[in-house]
Amino acid sequence: MGKLRAELVSVTFLLQACWQVPKWGHMTQDQIPNPISDPTSGQIASFDNHVASFQLDNSPVRGRAVHLGDALNEALGAGRYPVEVARMLGEAMMIAALVGRALKFKGRLVVQCYGTNEGAISLLAADCTTDGNIRGYARWDDEQLKSIRLDHKNHNKSLGAKTLLGGGTFAMTIDQGPDMDQYQGLSAIEGGSLAECAEHYFRQSEQIPSRVKLACGQVQLPGRAPSWRGGGIMIQRIAADENRGETGDDWETAKALFATLSDDELIDPDLTQEKLLYRLFHESGVRIVDQADIRAQCSCSEEKLYNTLKTFEVDALNDMAENGKITANCEFCATDYVFNLEQLMPR
Ligand SMILES: [Zn+2]
Repeated sequence: MGKLRAELVSVTFLLQACWQVPKWGHMTQDQIPNPISDPTSGQIASFDNHVASFQLDNSPVRGRAVHLGDALNEALGAGRYPVEVARMLGEAMMIAALVGRALKFKGRLVVQCYGTNEGAISLLAADCTTDGNIRGYARWDDEQLKSIRLDHKNHNKSLGAKTLLGGGTFAMTIDQGPDMDQYQGLSAIEGGSLAECAEHYFRQSEQIPSRVKLACGQVQLPGRAPSWRGGGIMIQRIAADENRGETGDDWETAKALFATLSDDELIDPDLTQEKLLYRLFHESGVRIVDQADIRAQCSCSEEKLYNTLKTFEVDALNDMAENGKITANCEFCATDYVFNLEQLMPR
């Protein structure tokens, strides 16, 4: 079994490894992606359930954008969570997707938020495999949530991360499978949103100026039940180099443009990634370097659960059984698995 290593430096190194900046000069003309042109003029395919990597032409800024429709709605499960919990879990899944989908090795990126007694959510867990499978689950206290809602009902704002989690710890873990070491970086839950927690994490662990914006909400499309959608964009400043010289002003400009991005724009089903990136950054020129799909997919299986239960002591199995059957539930996707006690007993 691999062990968990809390090494910020290693996480930083691995995250950096997936942020390779393409060098146009090393590519042939037809390898270089075209800048996004005014998307209102042509037919643009929907980029729901995708993560895109992009780069600005005349500015030292790279970024990633995620847009989730059906994948997020399925991963959050209809009515499984109170709205505030679902929204925050959706944001955690988008962070996992933004970072996890770009890692260049097989594995998954796990985002966990551990709340305190002050908050209503004690745990958010979301992961995204490097093939693009997202899932997540949350634990919360209904009574505490009701009392927080009451306390805040006069504030006409959605409840933030600090309030719902009551502070605590934000963790990002790179998991490359059971036989490999895991790398984990931690930071304190600070700020009003999970996006701010992620910014804080990147500032602390990568020491690269970053901006993250996430939005998650329910939309009602004609003829359909209300469904969850989410959008998120992160931008990072590319360090100054000999060719570029000092890049501070350009970064300030990019940050100012990024700050105009609204939650509604991120969730709007009619606003594709291309339209949104063009709207934000067309003055500098922006190119999508890479796109990868995302789907809701849990990694649980009857076989995996069976193998886990087989490792339990007979007494423990007897305690878990009811009428000769053991029912096990996957916390991520809420699937129930039922096993006959006899199957699990040692022979
Ligand atoms: Zn599952």
